[in-house]
Amino acid sequence: MTPIKFDIQAQDGEARVGVLTTRRGVIETPVFMPVGTAGTVKGVRFEELEEDLDARIILGNTYHLWLRPGIDVIKSAGGLHRFISWDRALLTDSGGFQVWSLGALRKISEEGTEFRSHVDGSLRFLSPEVSMEVQAALGSDIVMVFDECAPGEASHEDTERSMNLTARWAQRSKIAFDRLQSEGADTGRREAEDLSGRQALFGIVQGAGHLDLRRISVEQTVNIGFDGYAIGGLSVGEEKSLMFEVIEDIAPRMPKDAPRYLMGVGTPEDLVEAVARGVDMFDCVLPTRNGRTGQAFTSRGKLNIKNAKWINDQRPLDEGCRCAVCKRHSRAYLRHLYIAGEMLASILLSHHNLAFFLDTMRGVRQSIRSGDFPKFRREFNERLGANGE
Ligand SMILES: [Zn+2]
Repeated sequence: MTPIKFDIQAQDGEARVGVLTTRRGVIETPVFMPVGTAGTVKGVRFEELEEDLDARIILGNTYHLWLRPGIDVIKSAGGLHRFISWDRALLTDSGGFQVWSLGALRKISEEGTEFRSHVDGSLRFLSPEVSMEVQAALGSDIVMVFDECAPGEASHEDTERSMNLTARWAQRSKIAFDRLQSEGADTGRREAEDLSGRQALFGIVQGAGHLDLRRISVEQTVNIGFDGYAIGGLSVGEEKSLMFEVIEDIAPRMPKDAPRYLMGVGTPEDLVEAVARGVDMFDCVLPTRNGRTGQAFTSRGKLNIKNAKWINDQRPLDEGCRCAVCKRHSRAYLRHLYIAGEMLASILLSHHNLAFFLDTMRGVRQSIRSGDFPKFRREFNERLGANGE
C-alpha cells in the first residue's frame, strides 16, 4: 500500500484536476497550501483555516520548528499536528531552502550544510539524514527531500554541480526516510483506508534556468522514485519568462500519475499560468506577508489599503469574494485599521488574501472540470489589471 493516492479526474490541455488522498483527508488539486512557517499561518486562527477558508493542507517549515521550539518540545506534544491542534494534512519542507537563503552564514559540503542559527547564533548542521529525522518527529503527512538550490542566475557548471549534489542528497534522504518509517519514528502515523498510514516523500527537481539540466534532474529524481515530485529553485531571482519556460518544459516530463508541486510560487496569476502548464500544488507566503503590509489581492488586481482613495469607500475588498471579511467590512474600515496601526488590519487582510488564493484554485478546478479553463484563464488575467477598481 502507498501513503497517498492521486487520481486525475479531468484534464484540459496540460491543466488537470486531481484528488489527492492522504492519511489526513482528501485534497482536491490544483491546490494552494497556506504557509505555516513556525507552526502558525501568520495572523490566521485554525478555526478560520478550517471553516471559512476550508484549507485542506498547510505547510510547516522544518528549519524554523527545528530551531524553535525544537524537536523535543514537539515530540513531547505528540508531533506537530497535536502541538498546533491541526488534524488536517501537513506538508513540511526540508529546511534546505531556508539554510540556502542564509547566504554567507552557511557552508555547504557533501555531507550537508553547516550554518549559524538565526535564533541564538549557535552552529548547526543540517543534512539529508537530520532533515528526515526532524520531519519524522514532526509527523507531517508529506515530507520533502533535503535539496540544494542553485541561484536563478547560476552558471551551467555551478548548476550542474548543485543538481548532482541534490540527486545524491535525494538518494540519502530516501534511505534515511525508509529506515525511520520502519523504526516507527513518524509521530503522525495514522491508519487510513487503503493507505499505508506512513508519511509520503516527495523528490525535488533542480537545475535553475538550464533546461538540459532540469531534464536530467527529472530523470535522476524519477529514477530514485518518490510519491510526488516538486519543481524547486524557481522564483529565486530569475526572469519570470524563464520560470514559465522551465515549468512548461519540465512539468509534462514529470510522472503523470503523481502530484506535481511548484515550490514557493507565487502570485495568483503565476498559479493560474502554472496550472495551465501541468502543476497541481502550490505554496507561497504572499497572501499573509502582503496582507501584513496592507496589500490585498482581488479579482480586479492588487490594491493597497493605505491609499487615500479608499478613505470613504464602502465596498468590500473584492465584490466577488465570499470570505468573512468581505461579507462584513468595507475598504474604508480596513484602511482606517491599517493607518491606525491596529493588528486587526493584518489579520483581516491576510484572511481575505488567503480566501482569494484558495477561491482562485476552486475556480480553476471548476473550469477544468467544465472544459472552460482557457476562458477562465483569459478572463482572470484581463481583470487583474484594474487595480481594485
Ligand atoms: Zn474576501
